[in-house]
Amino acid sequence: MSERKPSPFPVLLNNDVCSLIQAADDVYQVRFKNRAANAYVVRGSSRTIMIDVGLTSNYPCLVECLHHLDCPPEKIDMVVLSHEHLDHIGAAHYFKGRTYIAAHRLAANKIMLRDDFSMLRKMFNEPNVPIDVDLWLEEGNLIDLGNFRLDVMHTPGHTSACITLFDQDKGLLFAADTLMPGGVMGGVFGSGSIADYIQSLERLKGLNSRILLSGHGRLSDTPQEDVRIAIARSHGLLSDTAQLFDALDARSNFEPIMQSVRDLNKLDDS
Ligand SMILES: [Zn+2]
Ligand SMILES: [Zn+2]
Repeated sequence: MSERKPSPFPVLLNNDVCSLIQAADDVYQVRFKNRAANAYVVRGSSRTIMIDVGLTSNYPCLVECLHHLDCPPEKIDMVVLSHEHLDHIGAAHYFKGRTYIAAHRLAANKIMLRDDFSMLRKMFNEPNVPIDVDLWLEEGNLIDLGNFRLDVMHTPGHTSACITLFDQDKGLLFAADTLMPGGVMGGVFGSGSIADYIQSLERLKGLNSRILLSGHGRLSDTPQEDVRIAIARSHGLLSDTAQLFDALDARSNFEPIMQSVRDLNKLDDS
């Protein structure tokens, strides 16, 4: 029987709702035990940020973790949202007026217009509270925390608006739902695309990453392997989808759709 190797990441706090795990010096993962995505704290020498914040209902536990790190919400200089899904950003409204909130411009636009469908509001049963995005990010922006320098990479695929943050010196890869441990992918939602996803993963493959800090699941110290598996899976997904479209490519399958379009437009009704 093979022994499972112990996790290199120490657990600092663990209760019924969440756990707080150290990913690297001054880098922490808050891992919730419900459907909320992971939140991260990066405590730099000149600025401290959070990457994603989880659901509204997780906020008390998030605050508990922040106090444990002696880093209460008032000390957070910026909250960076990885994309528009509410399991990642639901609790962001609590930071309004206390700190800057940043997201890729495509996510910011959906969030500011309250595009509930894109944000999956009903799916996560979140309250209808506005989240204001102060800083609209782009590919190539740099978030400078003093001893951490995070490159903003636009990595669409899961949605159109996903970003990955990468610290080149420390090899820290904050990939949210673009790449997860074991090469698990985040699925392709309304504004996303498998082809974009593959291109984003190919970009991540080229990085000298050492630790993967994902939107869901554990921390991983094998990001290169994870990304290789994800790329293989994504090509499989692409060919499955092509086969699906081939199978549907019969006139009879399209006829009901064409009929409903005609009905909608009342083409023969005059
Ligand atoms: Zn997502
Ligand atoms: Zn997610």
